Amino acid sequence: MSAVTVSTSPSTAPGTGGTGLREGAFGNATGLVCRECGAGQPLGPYYACQECFGPLEIGYAFPSITREQIEAGPKNIWRYQPLLPVPTDIALSPNMEPGFTRLVHASNLGRELGIRSLWVKDDSGNPTHSFKDRVVAMALSAARELGAKVFACPSTGNLANAVAAAGARAGIRTVVFIPHDLEPAKIQMTAVYGGSLVAVRGSYDDVNRLASEIAGEEDGWAFVNVNVRPYYAEGSKTLAFEIAEQLGWRIPEQVVVPVASGSQLTKIDKGFQELIKLGLVEDTPYKIFGAQAEGCSPVSAAFKAGHDVVRPVKPNTIAKSLAIGNPADGPYVLDVTRRTGGRVEDVTDEQVRDGILLLARNEGIFAETAGGVTVAVTKKLVETGQLDPELETVVLNTGDGLKTLDAVADRVAPSATIDPSYTEFLATGLA
Ligand SMILES: *Cc1c(COP(=O)(O)O)cnc(C)c1O
Repeated sequence: MSAVTVSTSPSTAPGTGGTGLREGAFGNATGLVCRECGAGQPLGPYYACQECFGPLEIGYAFPSITREQIEAGPKNIWRYQPLLPVPTDIALSPNMEPGFTRLVHASNLGRELGIRSLWVKDDSGNPTHSFKDRVVAMALSAARELGAKVFACPSTGNLANAVAAAGARAGIRTVVFIPHDLEPAKIQMTAVYGGSLVAVRGSYDDVNRLASEIAGEEDGWAFVNVNVRPYYAEGSKTLAFEIAEQLGWRIPEQVVVPVASGSQLTKIDKGFQELIKLGLVEDTPYKIFGAQAEGCSPVSAAFKAGHDVVRPVKPNTIAKSLAIGNPADGPYVLDVTRRTGGRVEDVTDEQVRDGILLLARNEGIFAETAGGVTVAVTKKLVETGQLDPELETVVLNTGDGLKTLDAVADRVAPSATIDPSYTEFLATGLA
């Protein structure tokens, strides 16, 4: 289970349980807490509870912090350093500077969908063009503080891009594992950064199982979403922080989030809760909705059936970045969506393509398939009366359309192909 080697020099750092971590290695984080039984554990290379094997998450002792202090920070996720498991000098170490992506007021799309006030949080603007740069930046910091020698991940594509790029910048060896049949752009956008890329003949869930096995066998390997997952997951909170800050320090009434492993959705909720606890926003009600593709909709199926457990499926969808058949955070997505009054819904691949075009043609934002899922699910939620069109709604676009060009290839083409002559142009009827 412990795969990241921790230096064994004696520690006086509070809260680190004598594991040799340097003081302040994880900022205001004080320990790891089991999400199932609540048992505490010192900070370290742990991801499963010693009592019940439940997943661990980060606990903090936050200092009092003001909006002004945050606003004075850098225009990236490090402005939220006091709320993240990273040291105060994080901005000085070679890492990525993701975040503070634009929040677009999508009035055209809102009109089209009948939603009074609609926003798109556009995470395609991150360094490797997906939201994964947020979580990887966090994992890289943890890997460094834990003394890891290899930075690794199993990936559905975007994580591979982000890990390879961040590792290159930090000068740490990377080994990335992907299903062999990923989109060509995602393979090239990983390989371009150097490092090792292992294509595995199998599904993402097979790749993930292999990664867990390697993490258990090899010392010094930090698998970002396996054995440093508690740190990695905290990166998604920055989406909640930014949305609230960009709205003028308030929580939107509805948020629609794509679901793969489900980590992002649950941490957006954790982010809102922390802002409320810190008094940075008012405690106003919000609903979180989950979006999946029908061809990989284990969480949506469980939600609709009223189940608390998620039955694994074999994915078959063009939304490959969301194609996790056995989602680790599935049950927690059910908790959050039910507790907040949201829903989990799914759409067909054809609707995903429609969603991509709807967003592009109304807002000039080209989303990858995951964004198509989220837009299409939002449309379906309105049409079926599950999302209140009178409430302010934020939809996430988590990746760039250039990564999944094939998804819309047969729906986009030149309007006409002509010789350079005015007569031919007139013949097209476009004048
Ligand atoms: C990974 C990913 C997600 C979802 O992430 P989880 O936290 O695993 O649910 C959403 N969108 C894109 C584009 C992704 O790459």
